[in-house]
Amino acid sequence: MNINRPRGTTDIYGENIEYRNYISNTARKIFEIFNYKEIITPAFEHTTVFSRSIGEGSDIVSKEMYTFQDRKGRLLTLRPEGTASIARAVIENKMYVENLPLKLFYEGNMFRYERPQKGRMREFWQIGVEAIGTDNPIIDVEIMWILNSLFEKLGFRKLVFKVNSIGCNKCREKFLIEFKRYLEPRIEKLCDDCRNRFDKNAMRIFDCKKGECINILKDSPEIYSFLCDDCKDKFKEILECLEELKIDYVIDKTLVRGFDYYTGTVFEIISEDLKSEQNALGGGGRYDNLLKELGGPDLPATGFAIGVDRIIMLMKQLKLSYKKDRELPRIYIIAMDRKCQFHSLKVLKYLRDSGIVCDINFNNRGIKKEIKLAEKNGYSFVIIIGENEIKTGNLVLKDIRKFKQYSINWENEKEKIMEFIGESV
Ligand code: AMP
Repeated sequence: MNINRPRGTTDIYGENIEYRNYISNTARKIFEIFNYKEIITPAFEHTTVFSRSIGEGSDIVSKEMYTFQDRKGRLLTLRPEGTASIARAVIENKMYVENLPLKLFYEGNMFRYERPQKGRMREFWQIGVEAIGTDNPIIDVEIMWILNSLFEKLGFRKLVFKVNSIGCNKCREKFLIEFKRYLEPRIEKLCDDCRNRFDKNAMRIFDCKKGECINILKDSPEIYSFLCDDCKDKFKEILECLEELKIDYVIDKTLVRGFDYYTGTVFEIISEDLKSEQNALGGGGRYDNLLKELGGPDLPATGFAIGVDRIIMLMKQLKLSYKKDRELPRIYIIAMDRKCQFHSLKVLKYLRDSGIVCDINFNNRGIKKEIKLAEKNGYSFVIIIGENEIKTGNLVLKDIRKFKQYSINWENEKEKIMEFIGESV
């Protein structure tokens, strides 16, 4: 019997939970400041939601989806990314009837059948943002601004913000003719995947990390030179705004994104401290045709997604800490036996009702060991409750970091606990 977790998945606990919550809370604060509202969609959708939007020619749809039939024979897929589900939800719930643009964010686990390695999992977590209902370049800038603020707040300093425009359908059509003309005589030298992409989605050849394909692309035409005036102007405006906001970027004319639904401005944030195959921490761009392609109204949109697991990996590698905004004083109660534990209940209740983080020893390991454990677990105070304390009604509050202690009569002066711990903050 196999009771291990499936390959490419992970159990998240301990320090990793602290990191995750820190990233999530930091992101949520920024989303609130920029006025983005949360949306939660199902973890699985009808398969067509993804195949129609991400594209049959993409790696995800062609080989990475977790697809299954339910008991009624419906074809369902565990979400491999967030955008398609949100577009589906916006259409289905007619959310576009409200004020546009819709500014939404999400957080959730995604599933892709990839070859697991460091920073590449089969179940991983993303946080993302979508702005639906305007083609104003300022919203592209806002999306990038959020992404940049988030990484700055998390303490990253040396990330590279790559931007490019892959143009509208018209620019891409012209480009693809020239691009395929260039590739045709070289097609035999492309890897198997790229030969496949040549017919289904040639732009994706730019995504290939294999040496021979990269070499072939060195002299290839670039989409950038095929941009129509409108796409060029929009891209220029975006770059000017980024400069105004002092957001550093580099133009990467080979940057395309893995899904078919992207149009116009695309971007990616990468770390040079990570191996090149897994160095992207997040990315996104415009997807002006997606809602229409899913049967909804013709609404332009833009968004990004970041990979939480990869960010944690890099934070640890760079020794960036997860900081709590304000470390609240924590009290650990050491009760000497079961009877003392009973007497501790009123103290625990008083402290917990007052919003103080506190806990009690459930096993008795002796005072010395308990104090050590309290210190290790981040408690700054202990209260010891033994026979004597029950008899006299006096408690001893010990500040274990400053080696101070205070005697407090429980009946007459329990509020003094708050005063004493307040002084230590
Ligand atoms: P994508 O949805 O492919 O644009 O990915 C957005 C971000 O999610 C990437 O930049 C990664 O940080 C993260 N990501 C994508 N795929 C995986 C994976 N298989 N395992 C871990 N993180 C991933």
